[in-house]
Amino acid sequence: MTPKKTAFKTAKKTDSSKTGKKPVLGAHESIAGGVFNAILNGERATCETVQMFNKSNSQWRAKVLTTEEVDRYFAEIERTGITVACSHSSYLINLASPDKALNKKSRLALKEEVERCNTLKIPNLVFHPGAHVGSGEEAGIARIAENMNRILSEVTDNTVTLCLETTAGQGTTLGRTFEELASMIDLVEDKDHVGVCMDTCHIFAAGYPITDPRDFKRTIKAFDNVIGLDKLNVIHLNDSKKEFGSNRDRHEHIGEGMIGIEAFRNFMNDRRLKKIPMVLETPKDDTLADDVRNLKTLRSLIK
Ligand SMILES: [Zn+2]
Ligand SMILES: [Zn+2]
Repeated sequence: MTPKKTAFKTAKKTDSSKTGKKPVLGAHESIAGGVFNAILNGERATCETVQMFNKSNSQWRAKVLTTEEVDRYFAEIERTGITVACSHSSYLINLASPDKALNKKSRLALKEEVERCNTLKIPNLVFHPGAHVGSGEEAGIARIAENMNRILSEVTDNTVTLCLETTAGQGTTLGRTFEELASMIDLVEDKDHVGVCMDTCHIFAAGYPITDPRDFKRTIKAFDNVIGLDKLNVIHLNDSKKEFGSNRDRHEHIGEGMIGIEAFRNFMNDRRLKKIPMVLETPKDDTLADDVRNLKTLRSLIK
């Protein structure tokens, strides 16, 4: 199908998001040197959408976003037509921590990230629910929800959805089952601003089969029954270096890991998932050749 010359950008967007013909694909891209670089890297990597950090992911402190940086970011979005599916929060944040100081630090840091996402008009902020560190699942879940409630009530004019990511279930991390995520969502008051990010590597490692088409259907149905597909805002497409049910989180190139290519064929062709942005978090170097290759693989699976 050839898009009309006059409305190329609009036609492209409509094709993927409204008619549901093709999934919207992209990758996590680096913001090193400025947030606009996520868009420029996305362009080089043939992304239709990107995930990005909104600050350095390994530090508590965030550098102030300058007007210049933000203006260039919006200009690059406008020029390329690339959307920003989501931002991923810092790995340091643990909303479930029983340590009072770390818990507070985590809440304030995530709140600041929500504010930055509002500035950058990023619709979803993906974060790992947290680890209860021996304090118990129920207590951990309650702390996560309480922190989410405080953040969502404190940020004025918020348009960002907090997306709990499914986890591989290593150690005391919470979010390894759909039920755990559902119980967090249950406790959040502002239901319009809470969602989920499903990571294929993580759910596979947590024991949800997705490779055989019937298993895949069952897993998606379980998600729909327990959480609801209307809450699924982002999908991370990663193959896994570790085996099924290993509870280990090690990403691999698409089709080159223990999950296998057939799982991604399932994801590429499920009608219900076509409106949900899907991003890679697979290994790569500065050339972004791996992203280009993985996206090509995914596109080749679309029927
Ligand atoms: Zn992920
Ligand atoms: Zn992971």
